[in-house]
Amino acid sequence: MNIALVAHDGRKQELLSWVKYNQAILSKHNLYATGTTGRLIEEITVENPGIAGTLTCPFRGKVTKLLSGPLGGDQQIGAMIAEGKIQMLIFFCDNLIVQGHQNDVSALTRLAALYNIAFATNRTTADMLLTSSLMDNPEYRIQLPDCIANYANRELK
Ligand code: PGA
Repeated sequence: MNIALVAHDGRKQELLSWVKYNQAILSKHNLYATGTTGRLIEEITVENPGIAGTLTCPFRGKVTKLLSGPLGGDQQIGAMIAEGKIQMLIFFCDNLIVQGHQNDVSALTRLAALYNIAFATNRTTADMLLTSSLMDNPEYRIQLPDCIANYANRELK
């Protein structure tokens, strides 16, 4: 599965903690992230299971880093969702402040909802998504809502 990860500055530590906690599951998937979120995920260190006392970066080189969110990264992820290239979005947005790129934030959350991808904006929901039995069901397919085809094929006079 292709999973996109985004966190605003006020929630980056929370996302990093969540990624660390879910390292084993996330390692089985293709990860995409906005620039700074992706860089920080690649810098995560955990104890090396092979050699006690040493550290390893489990996500180094394993995250496709897009542009920083405010510089177009949110829109890149939105476009990938519309193209069917992202199946899950974990987006820890800061709900206490208005972002300079609030329009991009709204556009991204709108597309995630419209295209019916798995979409979490908080840690509990993100945990529940990752541990869903549907994650391991190869027959499960995201269904595009009828409204998308209806809109694409609408008649205009
Ligand atoms: P960033 O972008 O990961 O590059 O900081 C996040 C965002 O969309 O604000």
